[in-house]
Amino acid sequence: MVDGKQRCKACDGSGILADQEGWQYRCSVCNGDGIYNQSDAATTSRVMDVDENNRLLD
Ligand SMILES: [Zn+2]
Repeated sequence: MVDGKQRCKACDGSGILADQEGWQYRCSVCNGDGIYNQSDAATTSRVMDVDENNRLLD
């Protein structure tokens, strides 16, 4: 999925963040694509500021 590009460090290229309760969130750093790019960098500071709207319901 992530090949030769800069992998997102927040989600380790998966595009998904999960908490200890099993909730999964779209990574707000890379917008869920697992690739960190300059346009994503502007949102890096919000990586831990995920609200319910970003939850992915299974
Ligand atoms: Zn990410």
